[in-house]
Amino acid sequence: MPDLDPRAGLCPSCLHVRPVTSARGSLFLMCARAANDPRFPKYPRLPVVRCPGYERRPAPRGAPQA
Ligand code: SF4
Repeated sequence: MPDLDPRAGLCPSCLHVRPVTSARGSLFLMCARAANDPRFPKYPRLPVVRCPGYERRPAPRGAPQA
């Protein structure tokens, strides 16, 4: 997972985000929930400040807890 700008709101720390890099090297955040739930856009408009689907991604093993 690349480092994601925390100013992007909730998505960078969400369990359901999938970073996608374009052919030009731009980074987009795709919401995996969009595949099964029409409430969620595939590419959310950032920053997402409130989201009913948000689930905090667990910190990697050995990483300090926030
Ligand atoms: S569930 Fe919400 S917070 Fe999580 S990636 Fe999708 S839009 Fe972002």
